[in-house]
Amino acid sequence: SAPDTLAAGSATNQQSFDRARAILPGGVNSPVRAFGSVGGTPRFYVKASGAYVTDVEGRSYIDLVNSWGPAILGHAHPEVIEAVQQAASRGLGFGASTPAETELAELVRSRISVGGVSPIERLRLVSTGTEATMTAIRLARGATGRRLLVKFAGHYHGHSDGLLAEAGSGLATLSMPGSAGVTAETAAQTLVIEYNNVAALEQVFAEHGHDIAGVIFEAAAANMGVLAPQPGFNETIVRIAHEHGALAISDEVLTGFRVDPAGYWGLDARASATGSRWVPDLFTFGKVIGGGMPLAALGGSARIMELLAPLGPVYQAGTLSGNPVAVAAGLATLRLADDAVYSRLNQVAETLSQETSAALSAEGVEHVVQHAGNLFSFAFSPTEPLNFADVKAQQGYRYAPFFHSMLESGVSLPPSVFEAWFVSAAHDDGVVSKIVEALPAAAKAAAAA
Ligand code: PMP
Repeated sequence: SAPDTLAAGSATNQQSFDRARAILPGGVNSPVRAFGSVGGTPRFYVKASGAYVTDVEGRSYIDLVNSWGPAILGHAHPEVIEAVQQAASRGLGFGASTPAETELAELVRSRISVGGVSPIERLRLVSTGTEATMTAIRLARGATGRRLLVKFAGHYHGHSDGLLAEAGSGLATLSMPGSAGVTAETAAQTLVIEYNNVAALEQVFAEHGHDIAGVIFEAAAANMGVLAPQPGFNETIVRIAHEHGALAISDEVLTGFRVDPAGYWGLDARASATGSRWVPDLFTFGKVIGGGMPLAALGGSARIMELLAPLGPVYQAGTLSGNPVAVAAGLATLRLADDAVYSRLNQVAETLSQETSAALSAEGVEHVVQHAGNLFSFAFSPTEPLNFADVKAQQGYRYAPFFHSMLESGVSLPPSVFEAWFVSAAHDDGVVSKIVEALPAAAKAAAAA
């Protein structure tokens, strides 16, 4: 019989990568996985459980990528796997509605609420964050009859044509200001402004306000490293957009259900002493909502959301939308993500960010800790970055040796300085200690760079 290419020990990472490169562009199905900015051979995984991932050579690593966010409970939580297996045994997809989709949407509405009030009156399930933001923008244009979109430099909202200008994530990692294949006409419909800059926001609306359909923003930027909004900035975005009849679209694909049961919006609302609350017209979700399966969503007021087909003139559809196996994973994950899970995530993030910072300081490596709730990363900068230009000005070359030292010690970090570190509730004290033990050597390597 054919060799089991999924089994640990069936090949080396290098053999797997070489074989992949002969058929998959760059050997990967998503660019950052190729280790483009840190160099070396990407690890090919065969399984993951709890806090660990295991590569094709049979070596296990403590995982601080966690599927780029979804795995808040750790990998392959037994109850999530059971829910998925049960759903799968009933059929992989029907192309028709299921009661579970409604249940998931109701659960999202009840979680994204503060004081019993939810801005999510209607929700649509899609399969990826890219679809969620793409549809939210189409809705903004459909609702306003306007053409232009405002986004912030360094924010990443998936790979649809209009959103690749000065984007974070893989584009930042590969130093790509945009993408070939996007027409000049499309690119010109996205106005990119500096993050955390109220004057720039006021100016773009003063110049183009009558033509702007919406502003899209990460609720807390986390695709150029973590870069939280300055206090009051999200509120200002929403206010200025509304003053000009434009929609505010808060992208919580990464922050939603991770930094708080009610996402960054909920974290901010609870933290606000004045009780003031920014309420965007549309929210986008992904990652945690699908528990690791392909599932994402957009939601908001009934008035806007009911412009979607079949009720309204804005078209959106999907063969895989609300897929029953993905919905089962999302439902199980959200049901298990209780207060204890969030307090564990916060605690692990706090410990790891402090310990990492201490290790870097001990080696004299200039850095700042970047935080948004339990999302964190480090910038090799003397002062706190406020925007994409600041982030790009850091001593980014220090990250590759840091990353590889950690990997050698059995800790898998995001393979780019422009990404957040993701913790999970499966990172118990023993796991955290192992990460902390690996830090001094990594800090030394960063210092020597
Ligand atoms: N928005 C944000 C804030 C994201 O972080 C991402 C993915 N990292 C996306 C949108 C796109 O989601 P997906 O990769 O599922 O298309």
